[in-house]
Amino acid sequence: MKYLVTGGAGFIGSALCHRLMAAPDAQVTVVDKMTYAANPASLAPFEGQGRFRLVKADICDQTRMMELALADAPDVIFHLAAETHVDRSIDGADAFVQTNLVGTFAMLQAARGLHERKGGSGVRFVHVSTDEVFGSLGAEGHFDEATAYDPSSPYSATKAGADHLARAWHRTYGLPVMVSNCSNNYGPRQFPEKLIPLMVLNALEGLKLPIYGDGSNVRDWLHVEDHADALVRIAEAGVPGESYTVGGNSEKTNLEIVRLVCQLLDERRPLSAPHGDLMTFVADRPGHDLRYAIDASKIGRELGWAPSRDFAQGLADTVDWYIANEAWWRPLRETVYAGQRLGKVGA
Ligand code: NAD
Repeated sequence: MKYLVTGGAGFIGSALCHRLMAAPDAQVTVVDKMTYAANPASLAPFEGQGRFRLVKADICDQTRMMELALADAPDVIFHLAAETHVDRSIDGADAFVQTNLVGTFAMLQAARGLHERKGGSGVRFVHVSTDEVFGSLGAEGHFDEATAYDPSSPYSATKAGADHLARAWHRTYGLPVMVSNCSNNYGPRQFPEKLIPLMVLNALEGLKLPIYGDGSNVRDWLHVEDHADALVRIAEAGVPGESYTVGGNSEKTNLEIVRLVCQLLDERRPLSAPHGDLMTFVADRPGHDLRYAIDASKIGRELGWAPSRDFAQGLADTVDWYIANEAWWRPLRETVYAGQRLGKVGA
């Protein structure tokens, strides 16, 4: 099988590449602009392997994406490239509108060109999206595939728009598009501006652990390797035109997450005082959604996927991964992320 993965040098894209490359006959081409969020170290194990290629390119370059799709002729396009950090989208949405909307348009056009070249079959497009497109839940209920779109942030609004483009390219042009809307991912190789790595790395360095508002915002957490499994399953067996909500059945408040991280580090790297003493509450994020939760019964029923990793174990493994892989994160902390580590608390 031949795969094209956009955003493959990012957090989820690189986990997906590891999952795909585990099959000895898989050929993987990554298209990535290598923004601040990309880390070539995440793909280092595949360097020099003839069946893996990293193309540094901007998905907004429609001509280049069309040429690449036609030349590579993948069986599956996994579209993950995006600007992903909510706080950055609030500070400036330009890159989000460009990449998430214009870039998705370019990828859909490229896939459509290939689809037509192949005579109307032979390429499947997995559009990777987020549960944030649905807005906020109250204390009860879950998002599912029938939930109305109601995005709150510039990030989620651009992802919602991209989802609509993807669906329209199925309905209008017959492109076999499947959309996944997944909850918060955690695991190895996540850029250290996101909640869990930020807390782990700040705690390891004895820095403040900033928590938005009172920390009561609830997110559902899914291990990134479970997400990669779900994306592969959707590529294999998903029904074109359908959406799948994907989640981990692990609802946690942000405060619970930070407390768990602190407990794990108290055991592994004890300080003179508990790591919990580093917690500090900061002004809430504007438009901060209260609660996300996922009903993933459709993908379970129709595609036989369910999350397999236990959250407590997965979080402990993630903390251990960051402790063991300072060479992966240290350059990011010292360069692109320097100076921002105290102010931003994103998931
Ligand atoms: P990430 O920020 O870690 O990685 C994004 C990657 O896209 C980076 O490698 C970056 O260089 C690349 N990229 C950005 N702009 C580009 C452009 N114009 N052209 C080519 N490449 C570009 O993101 P992630 O957390 O791995 O998320 C991947 C996808 O999954 C996104 O579409 C995101 O919306 C979605 N998603 C993420 C989560 C989560 O919890 N992280 C949950 C659900 C869905």
